[in-house]
Amino acid sequence: MAKSSGVKTLGYAARDTSGFMSPFIFSRRETGDDDVRVKILYCGICHTDLHRSKNQWGDAKYPMVPGHEITGVVAEVGSKVQKFKTGDRVGVGCLVGSCLSCVECDSHRENYCAKRILTYNNTYYDGTNTYGGNSDHIVVKEHFVVRIPDSLPLDAAAPLLCAGITVYSPIKFFGLDKPGLHLGVVGLGGHGHLCVKFAKAFGSKVTVISSSPDKKKDAIDRFGADAFIHSEDANQMQAAMNTTDGIIDVGAKAHSLQPYIAMLKTHGKLIALGSPNMPNSLPNVNSLVGGRKTVAGSTIGGLKETQEVIDFAAKHNITADIELIPMDYVNTAIERMEKVDIRYRFVIDVGKTLSLMNLPIGDVYIVPPNTKGSPTTKKDSCCCQYL
Ligand SMILES: [Zn+2]
Ligand SMILES: [Zn+2]
Repeated sequence: MAKSSGVKTLGYAARDTSGFMSPFIFSRRETGDDDVRVKILYCGICHTDLHRSKNQWGDAKYPMVPGHEITGVVAEVGSKVQKFKTGDRVGVGCLVGSCLSCVECDSHRENYCAKRILTYNNTYYDGTNTYGGNSDHIVVKEHFVVRIPDSLPLDAAAPLLCAGITVYSPIKFFGLDKPGLHLGVVGLGGHGHLCVKFAKAFGSKVTVISSSPDKKKDAIDRFGADAFIHSEDANQMQAAMNTTDGIIDVGAKAHSLQPYIAMLKTHGKLIALGSPNMPNSLPNVNSLVGGRKTVAGSTIGGLKETQEVIDFAAKHNITADIELIPMDYVNTAIERMEKVDIRYRFVIDVGKTLSLMNLPIGDVYIVPPNTKGSPTTKKDSCCCQYL
């Protein structure tokens, strides 16, 4: 079924370590038998996009089309697709592939498959780069697509596909979803504000710990946290020692985990999720053994659990607090993220603002289909013929 020509796609790509994104035309594969073609309407901006587009993790493949909090509608399905039909409301998160046959995949943990394929900045089965959601459509195997219930708005639901599942999965896995537990949430940003909402929905007492004291009002009044601690106030930190059953640490800046170990009760669990561009330092083991405390990490979730978090969010009316922006605002949005000037997630209105009509003529790059590795680019004075 696949044709060699592919389907021309319009996106925004970073081309070097400046991370600056600009219009980019490339090819996506034809819709295969088990593929779903999604018309992208919204895409959240994750901190990962900032780190990757500027090569802060040292693994950038340029040109790079970021975006892994994708929502939209099904535009086309392959002949063997069973779960979706044209017009369905769907989402695509951080994964577009995995081996589907290892012990992790068999256990619905595709996110821990050694052969997982990320939605962007990865290499797909055919050797091409994967390109993410800052584009007008995406073609994904049915297995990696989730359904978005009608009750969830597609814009404010988009961040559930990464930020939402990233905080939800460890709360469940480490048994921190039992009603009545006291959870600490370190960092009140895109991930943290969703973490507070989920923890409250699980029936937890929630304390937000943040280096920004001006977030206290939002933490308590807007998101329903029970208490707030300014992490740079030694007295407040001291008073919170031995008070929490678990802490979800999503702080975006590099920091020591040691102070948070002290906040755990005996048998408490600290789950570190943040991906600062400098690694967090691990605590002294002696501070763990006396209270049989646990420090663990976690990353996103499998597809079954991603559908679960979406359905849980629909049931409990949980969405992200977003600032909806046009596509050409993406570079300003990334700058504002670096200054922590966002409450609490940017979501790009891809459907309404990414179009050829908005592009400056002569600033579009073409990538031949099925190009491996770093594609050759060329400028063209008019891109209309390619779509
Ligand atoms: Zn993300
Ligand atoms: Zn696998």
